[in-house]
Amino acid sequence: MDLKSGFPYWLIKNGLPYSYPTLEDSLESEVIVLGGGISGALSAFYLTEAGIDCAVVDARSIGLGSTCSSTSLLQYEIDTPLCKLQKMIGYQNAVRSYQLCANAIDKLKEIAVEIGFDKFEYKKSLYYAADKKDISFLKEEYKIRKENNFDVILLDERTIGDIFGFKAPAAILSELGAQTDAYSFTHALHQHNLKKGTKVFDRVTITKIRHNKDEVILTTQNKKRIKAKKLIYAVGYEAVNFINKKLVNLNSTYAIISEDFDDDNFAWPGEVLIWNTDDPYLYLRTTKDRRIIIGGRDEKFYNPRKRDKLLNSKSVGLEKDFKRIFPDIPFNKEYQWTGTFGSTKDGLPFIGPYKSLPNSFFSLGFGGNGIIFSQIAAEINRDLILGKENPDARLFSFERT
Ligand SMILES: Cc1cc2nc3c(=O)[nH]c(=O)nc-3n(C[C@H](O)[C@H](O)[C@H](O)COP(=O)(O)OP(=O)(O)OC[C@H]3O[C@@H](n4cnc5c(N)ncnc54)[C@H](O)[C@@H]3O)c2cc1C
Repeated sequence: MDLKSGFPYWLIKNGLPYSYPTLEDSLESEVIVLGGGISGALSAFYLTEAGIDCAVVDARSIGLGSTCSSTSLLQYEIDTPLCKLQKMIGYQNAVRSYQLCANAIDKLKEIAVEIGFDKFEYKKSLYYAADKKDISFLKEEYKIRKENNFDVILLDERTIGDIFGFKAPAAILSELGAQTDAYSFTHALHQHNLKKGTKVFDRVTITKIRHNKDEVILTTQNKKRIKAKKLIYAVGYEAVNFINKKLVNLNSTYAIISEDFDDDNFAWPGEVLIWNTDDPYLYLRTTKDRRIIIGGRDEKFYNPRKRDKLLNSKSVGLEKDFKRIFPDIPFNKEYQWTGTFGSTKDGLPFIGPYKSLPNSFFSLGFGGNGIIFSQIAAEINRDLILGKENPDARLFSFERT
């Protein structure tokens, strides 16, 4: 599957920081993690910490799936607002899903500290009404978050102007949010896991998978055999090759990044992540090296040729969106890129066993919060593989549909 094109910034910035061997022989491991992006790396981290023998295999060079094109905002606020999610899956389930996402931000921070990864930054998150008609929705969203102890403030037009220097009719400011570089994080996790004995192989395409009662047998493009008791599918949007395609909608999304600003010329209002209530929504963040990333203008199709043809015009559109909000910040675009992303009906990921594939566990973080979902999936799948009950597993199981 063609997952991305253009120049994803993290790939330009970091290049290929580490190399991993390809698989020359047959392999046997208690658990195989199929996919070495952020989901596979976190899955392997949790398994390794639990003392479970595991190996990661990926068809691409590590991180060159969707992970390298991620803009890497970390928000507990998922694509489906809490006030809407509760109507779809019930109040308690919706609130619990949001709480798990909030916890995931702190857990990712803890992991970053443990493995010595320094590209994790806490940031507040500002969710603004793109139009006056969204004010009542924002108030409803604020109310349900507030009554469930999320640290949020509702801001009016004047306050937004005073603090953040742009015009919007209302906004919710969340204390909890963060940003990272998912591509570097992925490599840092693999490097840590390797030291603990986990094996990582890239450029290994799995062409056939046989799910038996007590084991899973994978065959590589070179006809090598990989045997495991359990298989974690951390295959990103290519999951449509393995599960019912109707569970996932594939879309296209776009992002641009500015040149770096001088130290004294860079004042990002309020140091926040910014996104809005538009559909598709627009989002903005900064980077440690004083750049601005703008993302959005999504299209509801998966067709890489059509997607790529639109890259220049989408990029111009994103720049215009930015200039409309911040006419006084000089945005000089340096790179632009586009990628496929998957979404689900309720905005939640698919995690855990898939009944028709015995001994399988999926880690499918679809939606704009894929990285957050990857953490939640890694923990749930670890518990299920250990035979421990995890009461949150049902929220994201395939059976919920
Ligand atoms: C432009 C863009 C911006 C985004 N912004 C954000 C954001 O701000 N915040 C956020 O949380 N998320 C964001 N996302 C989503 C996030 O990037 C993804 O959720 C995440 O990268 C998915 O990681 P993954 O490891 O599941 O998948 P991938 O990184 O795609 O890794 C899956 C791997 O599985 C391997 N694989 C698949 N099939 C096989 C096979 N048969 N044999 C061997 N290997 C196989 C692939 O080669 C691939 O490397 C964004 C996505 C895009 C495209």
